[in-house]
Amino acid sequence: QKRKDCPLDKDELGRSTWGLLHSMASYYPEKPTTSQSQDMAKFFNIFAQFYPCEPCALDFQEDIKKNPPKTKSREELAKWLCERHNTVNIKLDKPVFDCSKVHERWLDGWSDGSCD
Ligand code: FAD
Repeated sequence: QKRKDCPLDKDELGRSTWGLLHSMASYYPEKPTTSQSQDMAKFFNIFAQFYPCEPCALDFQEDIKKNPPKTKSREELAKWLCERHNTVNIKLDKPVFDCSKVHERWLDGWSDGSCD
């Protein structure tokens, strides 16, 4: 039984997490070193083990087994992550996001000044 409203629920956790992950991808080096590239791939594998929503984590583990992290450049990582998020969007019947606009959403900001 939950005693407080303060712990994040599944949707709040998801929104905050996607915010962190897409921002990490958008600020990832355009030309990472081999060690940065290896570490970012490890990060996603470890993240998938410990994401604190069990059914979400199990599906994400399966998804990244089939589609391993692409970490050789910012462009590649941002697109890969956008596609992973779209896999979840499809599962939840949410709209598919246009991955060519991922930096507008998470790095530069929409040209009309909106946030979402
Ligand atoms: P979110 O999906 O949280 O998206 C936040 C914002 O990201 C959107 O408003 C939009 O501006 C932007 N965005 C949307 N799609 C993309 C994209 N493809 N690329 C870049 N930006 C995008 N919930 C479940 O109920 N079941 C699950 O199995 C599940 N698995 C999850 C797995 C992971 C790894 C994560 C991080 C979250 C998971 N969630 C799951 C939570 C779910 O994805 C949503 O975060 C939650 O439903 C809230 O959705 P939202 O409509 O607020 O927008």
